[in-house]
Amino acid sequence: MNVILFGPPGAGKGTQADNIARVFNLHKVSTGDLLRDEIKNKTDLGKKIKSIVDKGLFVPDAVINDLIINPLSHKKFYNRLIFDGYPRNLNQAKNLDLLIKKHDQKISYVFSLNVDKELLIKRILGRQTCTNCGSIFNEYFRPSTNKNHTCGTKFLVKRSEDNEKTILYRFQAYLDKTLPILDFYEKLNLLHQINGRPEIDQIFKEICAIMGFFET
Ligand SMILES: [Zn+2]
Repeated sequence: MNVILFGPPGAGKGTQADNIARVFNLHKVSTGDLLRDEIKNKTDLGKKIKSIVDKGLFVPDAVINDLIINPLSHKKFYNRLIFDGYPRNLNQAKNLDLLIKKHDQKISYVFSLNVDKELLIKRILGRQTCTNCGSIFNEYFRPSTNKNHTCGTKFLVKRSEDNEKTILYRFQAYLDKTLPILDFYEKLNLLHQINGRPEIDQIFKEICAIMGFFET
């Protein structure tokens, strides 16, 4: 089975992708990693990508579509991929569909992690990192206290770019871009909407149940 995971920034998508990959023995495909690998390995495609990225431009769909062929045609990963952060638009989704069929595989599950705007803002704006011990807290959901954190609050910092406007912009951009893709998978009867509000473990249990895996 191949799996696709969608979720807005801050929905915990990366963690769920890692969990699914581990429990179901899937290979995680992230286009970000693929792009970095090509650049690092200085392949012809990598050189092309680097010149695009260096100019601050978006990597075109045609390049992304080429990149995906590698993991899809790899015997070792046959029918056991999980796509994280891909496809990013309808064009890429349709191309993936063609490639999947061409390589005699199928997409079994598409998950969309849903969180509402207010929760997302609290999760991201409330995030605090301790510069002393590296612990991560959230002032709304898991504040640093005497009991869970001996450093105290003086080392806690917030990420400066995490302001509300940026978050809302990213969230809206995600929705605008992703809704047409979700429609596409909905019509193929592959889409599962997952409530992203509960704790990470609970969300993962729900995903496992849909995929027919129950912990004993
Ligand atoms: Zn600390």
